Amino acid sequence: ALWYGGVMGAILGLAGFTSYQMVAHAHWTAVNQELQSIAGTLHDSLEAKLTQPGQIEASVQDILPNLCLGDHPCTHSSERHILNAFGQSGYYIRLLTHQGKIVATAGDIPMNYLPDLRHQPKQILQDKQGIRYQRYTLALKNVSGQPWGWMEIGRSLQEFDDHLAILRWIIWGGFPVAILLVGAASWFLAGLAMQPIVNSYEKMQQFTADAAHEIRTPLASIQAVIESTFDTPLSEREFRELFTAIARQNQRLVRLTEDLLLISRLERHPRKSVEHPSVCLNDLLTDVVEGLLVLDMARSIRLSTNLPNQPIYVKGEPNQLAQIFTNLLTNALQYTPENGQVSVLLNRTFDQAVIDIQDTGIGIDSREQERIFDRFYRVASDRSRCTGGVGLGLAIAREIVTSHRGSIQVSSTPGQGSIFAVRLPVVEVNNGDG
Ligand code: ADP
Repeated sequence: ALWYGGVMGAILGLAGFTSYQMVAHAHWTAVNQELQSIAGTLHDSLEAKLTQPGQIEASVQDILPNLCLGDHPCTHSSERHILNAFGQSGYYIRLLTHQGKIVATAGDIPMNYLPDLRHQPKQILQDKQGIRYQRYTLALKNVSGQPWGWMEIGRSLQEFDDHLAILRWIIWGGFPVAILLVGAASWFLAGLAMQPIVNSYEKMQQFTADAAHEIRTPLASIQAVIESTFDTPLSEREFRELFTAIARQNQRLVRLTEDLLLISRLERHPRKSVEHPSVCLNDLLTDVVEGLLVLDMARSIRLSTNLPNQPIYVKGEPNQLAQIFTNLLTNALQYTPENGQVSVLLNRTFDQAVIDIQDTGIGIDSREQERIFDRFYRVASDRSRCTGGVGLGLAIAREIVTSHRGSIQVSSTPGQGSIFAVRLPVVEVNNGDG
């Protein structure tokens, strides 16, 4: 946020400075051009009227009606509008002889008027009050082309300076406000930009903690079993029992490690289903169900399949696809009491294969339904732990489905059962392929 604020502040400062310079330059050019054009017009008009060098003819008053002759202060009532002929105010004019003697003046003469500066045709002066003037000095000729003297025309820069002073105030006053706003915005935006990183960091930390916790449990069991053999002489049967317990915990560790490896593999290569072969879902589901029937023969849960005659193909990694349904069916069987029913239904919409895994089991509370797909999440840890699951089954299933451009949804009524619906994009395969 500090860096962002600093950089934005520097850019704003530069933009403010540049804008100021541009406005000042544009304004100055306008002021200059105006004075130049008035000086040129007046110069040409005067040269057409002047005859005697250093003398003012009466006809000059036609151009400058309020001209004050000599060097005296002029108190004419309409003095301020001296250059009305040119529609301007804030101007002054002096007509001088060659020697620098003032012949006539008009307008607001600067207070401490500086002496002869004829050798500098363009100049900026400052009077006692600090008001700046811009001045032009032009040589005058009479009608017959002989040198007459000098014309000085100047303009007060007070309006110009006031304008720029206001602009400076606005910039200096606005700058801290802008910096404050930029600071607040950068703080907010930095927070917004960091949020996904913070979230994924927290998720990673949680994942590591959960994984470590899950690994520790079987390791501690194995350790306890081994330690129990240290002091007591054991019979062969007891040894067999102990090794069976160790093997069970070891099995748990192997399963967990395999799950973790699969998750990390899926994360590293998330979307490669295009390169995969076409898999016939009818065959795949039959294989998975048969495999589970062998394992689950002892239990009295009816596991049935309802597959269409027409084969339905999807693109995917066969082992990963099988893993989705193995995980879903294992859950369905685990969370369904004796005499329950688990069914596998395969259907097809226009471009999707829909696989429903239905059970008549304990169901899932609606508040839990979104969370069960989170890694290591178990609805009731204790109950689930008895089943040997660590809460990765559904997370893996969702990960695989997503990497195959599909979706997975659950609908469930506690006490009645659940339906997990998996949707995968179908591919058309000619007979003989796949
Ligand atoms: P586990 O390995 O613990 O089964 P899963 O990720 O597969 O982890 O499932 C997460 C949680 O979802 C489980 O603890 C369980 O409570 C709930 N669950 C999953 N499938 C079902 C189901 N068919 N019926 C009821 N509860 C289920």
